[in-house]
Amino acid sequence: MTLLLRAGLLFTGSQEIENGWVLSSDDGMIVEVGSGPPPRADEIIDEPNCVAMPGLVNAHDHMYQWATRGYVPDGTLFQWLRALYPVWARMDAETVRVAARAAMARLLLCGCSLSTDHHYVFPYGCRGIFEALVDVARELGLRFHPCRGSMSLGESKGGLPPDSVVEDEDAILAHTEEMIGRYHDPKPGAMCRVVVAPCSPFSVTPGLMRDSAALARKHGVRMHTHVAETLDEERFCIEKFGRRPVELMEDLGWTGDDVWYAHGIHLNDAEVDRIAEVKTGIAHCPSSNMRLGAGACRVEDLVRAGARVGLGVDGSASNEDANPAMEAHQALLLARVRATSPAALDARGALRLATRGGADCLGRDDCGTLEPGTCADIACFRVDDLAHAGIEDRVAALALAPPSRAQTVVVNGRVVVRDGRLLTADEDQIAREIAATSARLAV
Ligand SMILES: [Zn+2]
Repeated sequence: MTLLLRAGLLFTGSQEIENGWVLSSDDGMIVEVGSGPPPRADEIIDEPNCVAMPGLVNAHDHMYQWATRGYVPDGTLFQWLRALYPVWARMDAETVRVAARAAMARLLLCGCSLSTDHHYVFPYGCRGIFEALVDVARELGLRFHPCRGSMSLGESKGGLPPDSVVEDEDAILAHTEEMIGRYHDPKPGAMCRVVVAPCSPFSVTPGLMRDSAALARKHGVRMHTHVAETLDEERFCIEKFGRRPVELMEDLGWTGDDVWYAHGIHLNDAEVDRIAEVKTGIAHCPSSNMRLGAGACRVEDLVRAGARVGLGVDGSASNEDANPAMEAHQALLLARVRATSPAALDARGALRLATRGGADCLGRDDCGTLEPGTCADIACFRVDDLAHAGIEDRVAALALAPPSRAQTVVVNGRVVVRDGRLLTADEDQIAREIAATSARLAV
């Protein structure tokens, strides 16, 4: 099936084309972008009242957290984590499946076409969690980079998490390798790529960090972890290891263009330059960072230094929603507040972080723009609704007044959202299931 999508305004990431169109082939790749009389296609989508743009990219998430939203509404990261670890210890593959369906449905409905998920809670003896995440992405039609996360440094060894949620390190490495073998697709246009992702410096040992890096590089897969999120983490690393978080990562082989960090907030000037130099990515998660009072990422400095910067919704237990357009909006406002200048991040720059920037973090040169040869991942947002009707700059509008829902979403040349409704699952049923699962977990 070839697909032709026409829109009132096509924003390719670099060009803005009035009445533009995108043609995709039956393998889900874009073959032509243009304006004027369109070519023939098997399926035609016409959105004269929309801006069509590259599908949004979510560079950091913990989808299982959809089942534990609204806990510790006013705590710091460490307070919030200590309260939630025992709840997360009760999760099994079915809980994660229900939570991931909610998280992915919400992401798709918001115009997200490519997302990672950093899953690091594998209660002892619990099987099928990673498999459930991959299955749900396939079912709903989301392009997916699941991280096999891990925790191994329990309280009894000086870590933050209770021993009940940490795993044996050999078992972590063996399961990670098994998941890479089963699900990782390195080919262009891949719908699933596996990532190796120990959770954070305060929940895994330096030895597991080092071994995980070696495993990832043996298989040519990407690496992801939390770094420099809070000052509590910085103090922990200095007290326990005598190193700042980024120094510790450098020691353990966790720098390079195959690595991206979540957050990267508490960076000094030398660390900003170093991250840019080694091409390590940063997934900026402004809503979560503000919710937890973690701090403000130096986005302007990182971008100016040439670093790869994407956006993440982070787990919805520290955001309560999963709307990447809202993160572009928050990133724009936060950067301007931090710099006391609107020049810190312009509206198109914020949208670039939410598309091309995230694709860069995830190592996808075939995503994040609409050009021949890239993946047919397209989000259409209405600009004739009450929130946007008559607005002067329709592209800037998407960052200044973030849409809460996309009109049409195409992933890999397949229409998965139409008229603001999910075509691959029943949104209302997903909402009922997540309500029941969240209530069961809370008891
Ligand atoms: Zn996170």
